Amino acid sequence: NFTTFDEVIDFWAKERPDGPAFEQDGRITSYSQLDDITRRIITLLQQRGVAQGDRINWLGKNRDIYFMIYLAAARCGIVMVPIGWRLAPAEIAYIVEDTGSSLIFADDEFSDVARDVADRVAAKPEVLTVSQVEKLLPDQALADYQPAGEHDPVLQLYTSGTTGNPKGAVLTNGNLLGLRNPALEAELPWQYYDADDCMLVAMPCAHIGGTGLVNISIASGIRALVQAEFTPVGVLEAIENGATHMFIVPAALQMVVQHPQARDTDFSNLKYLMYGAAPMPLELLKEAVRTMPNAGFLQAYGMTETSGTISLLPPDDHDLEGNERMRSAGKAVPGVEIRVVDPDDNEVPRGEIGEVAIKSPSNLIEYWHLPDATAEALRGGWMHTGDAAYMDDDGYIYIQDRIKDMIISGGENVYPAEVESAIYGHPAIAEVAVIGVPSERWGEEVKACVVAKPGMEIEEGDVIAYARERVAAFKAPKSVDVIPEMPRNPSGKILRRELRKPYWEGRD
Ligand code: ATP
Ligand code: MG
Repeated sequence: NFTTFDEVIDFWAKERPDGPAFEQDGRITSYSQLDDITRRIITLLQQRGVAQGDRINWLGKNRDIYFMIYLAAARCGIVMVPIGWRLAPAEIAYIVEDTGSSLIFADDEFSDVARDVADRVAAKPEVLTVSQVEKLLPDQALADYQPAGEHDPVLQLYTSGTTGNPKGAVLTNGNLLGLRNPALEAELPWQYYDADDCMLVAMPCAHIGGTGLVNISIASGIRALVQAEFTPVGVLEAIENGATHMFIVPAALQMVVQHPQARDTDFSNLKYLMYGAAPMPLELLKEAVRTMPNAGFLQAYGMTETSGTISLLPPDDHDLEGNERMRSAGKAVPGVEIRVVDPDDNEVPRGEIGEVAIKSPSNLIEYWHLPDATAEALRGGWMHTGDAAYMDDDGYIYIQDRIKDMIISGGENVYPAEVESAIYGHPAIAEVAVIGVPSERWGEEVKACVVAKPGMEIEEGDVIAYARERVAAFKAPKSVDVIPEMPRNPSGKILRRELRKPYWEGRD
């Protein structure tokens, strides 16, 4: 039962010294090499004057060296704050300034951006590119270090910024490893990893779906197959080359499943495919299950604030016959408690919609520099998620949507995700987002924003009729906007707030 990454790396370096910890572009780092290189990176950090409790940044794509710098920092209690490379320089500068970092590690590709950002920031942090790190790294660790404890923060990840400005979730060793207890994992086959399993890491490292996967692979002593960024072909090839586990967001899964090369891909290596981070349209899920019939599908629900997954829908509940369970985000994983509560924090009866609250050793300790947001989210030891859901009698939760995105139309509550899932099956529609717009008659009314499949025409009346056949009339859109593409954040989530903006400007 690990409590720190220092223990984890020591353990696997002894237990599986030659076992692969990372693989990228054919380059393999074994667990004994990981132990050695993280110790040498600690020396480098010490030489730069970075101390326990300080923050450092990474600006770049997914690189094996980034994960090693992160793990080195975690061993000695320096907090890694990775920054999404898709952000604009001003947004990057904001995070660097906010974290008070004195050192930015940057992918060579982003060295100019990193230097430009460092220049704008008061503390004038040093920038070290990957090539510089390779040159500067001492041949051996030169000094001892004080290993970080269970309650020391080691990772600060910014939320995706889907509902507002991203917030820095401060996560400790104990948060990141608290659900990786082997006694808990042994209960469920998909929480148990064989020595030669391989975790594909293709989601961005600045998000929990990227770095969070490496937390799992390292804690389990297996190989992380790192890809610089997500591409559908990269995922298909990784599966053929031996990836046994992966996590993917719905928008990316859609690209993989609909890629022409998917038809000729051998998926037999893939044991488990975890998907989540956004609502999954049912038609897409069925298509994915048909494409990879031998993989165990797991819907994951979780968030940056809970260090990743806190509930899972098991493979057996992925039943193509239209079992209602397929819409569920599953049950709390061992070690986690989930409650659905009303605004006064009382548990609502099963089947009724309320806010999801989570008690877990993986819950963040705070939002960085946001005491009010911390106090609002973390109450009585529970993380209040802002997600609306109900729980059935067997403890399965059904995520409806973000409470903030709920549309109140004529006094009825409409959750956009349900309407989107219904419209998604329309043959001419590639993507859909549902929003509420002002309405004299209904207060708010439902609007669908849709992107057409290449070469397809979309008729407003046809979309409305299609939706009306599948959901109650008050949930069906009253209007449809055909747009060229969806506004998305770097984790691939649709920004409904951007779509709403023009309709609400000048109002509350
Ligand atoms: P921000 O908090 O900045 O608005 P975000 O909530 O999108 O951004 P993340 O921490 O990346 O940031 O995402 C967590 C959220 O993603 C959850 O609160 C939930 O709304 C959504 N989510 C995660 N898993 C699922 C799932 N399986 N089904 C539906 N929604 C999910
Ligand atoms: Mg959130």
